[in-house]
Amino acid sequence: QAKQAGGGRPWLYTEDIGEQAARVLTMRHRMRVALERNEFRAYFQPQLDLASNRIVGTEALARWVPEDGPPVGPGEFIPIAEEYGLIDAICLRILEDACRWTQRWNALGLGPISVAVNISGRQFHDPERLIGTVDHALNTLGLEPAALELELTESTAMNDPENASTVIRMFHERGVGCCIDDFGTGYSSLSVLKRFALTKLKVDRSFVCDVTTDANDAAICGAIIAMGRALNLKVCAEGVETEDQLAFLRAQACDQVQGFLIARALPPDDLEALLRQGVTAGAVGERA
Ligand code: C2E
Ligand code: MG
Ligand code: MG
Ligand code: MG
Repeated sequence: QAKQAGGGRPWLYTEDIGEQAARVLTMRHRMRVALERNEFRAYFQPQLDLASNRIVGTEALARWVPEDGPPVGPGEFIPIAEEYGLIDAICLRILEDACRWTQRWNALGLGPISVAVNISGRQFHDPERLIGTVDHALNTLGLEPAALELELTESTAMNDPENASTVIRMFHERGVGCCIDDFGTGYSSLSVLKRFALTKLKVDRSFVCDVTTDANDAAICGAIIAMGRALNLKVCAEGVETEDQLAFLRAQACDQVQGFLIARALPPDDLEALLRQGVTAGAVGERA
């Protein structure tokens, strides 16, 4: 019947395409307006160092914060932004927020604290442009390069190891850190991995999730942590939600944890309040 409708009434088909095009234009327009209004912002999720019980870093996570509604997560707008060529503008906003706030926290004596920013697939494939953006942000906002990290997912890196190597080297030369994000979900060749000038591995939260109930996940997590140590890389476990998971990671001497147990991604003011608490009352350490 569908075939009949499609073949016999082609106008139906064209109308659908028209509607689709209209929706796309509306969305693109809305995102442009949102960019002009600075509605794309970085939220900050803290990273707790397990040896010192201090917040030593954050991950800047993109949010669309409309005037009159709840914040929208990146899963909903990053793919659209990539498609419409708005990803560079949005990521620049996130990078600027990340540098500006982190510079402020360090200047206020709430640090030392670093910030990690995610790199999209599109940005990864245009290294010159990416590095130009990063240089510009560092130069104009005055953040120490060592306080900035860039996150590249394992699958992005391994899909094009040559390019990954180039990108990572460019950051390394500037003293900017480089993490492999969602580690364990891609297919890393260890011989490729060791050639990269990395600073950190982030264990994907899918392994952390069942670490206390699934012996295989526990073994994988333990192996990644041990490998990171052997390669002289920091290891951060993401998606830590329970005290039991935290205890396991402590026992494995994991360097850092990030997850809802510590805090969700917070607006900058809330993250700043958390830092003040941690510094003055040690509340963050107590909670961990
Ligand atoms: P990611 O880089 O792996 O970021 C971690 C995601 O896990 C975040 O989701 C974070 O909120 C979530 N998460 C953190 N702790 C927990 C936990 O304990 N439990 C659970 N269930 N989830 C947790 P979010 O913010 O929705 O970001 C999703 C992805 O979007 C990120 O994954 C990253 O790949 C991408 N993304 C976020 N911000 C940006 C950005 O500025 N630029 C680009 N290119 N990508 C971004
Ligand atoms: Mg990330
Ligand atoms: Mg991640
Ligand atoms: Mg992840």
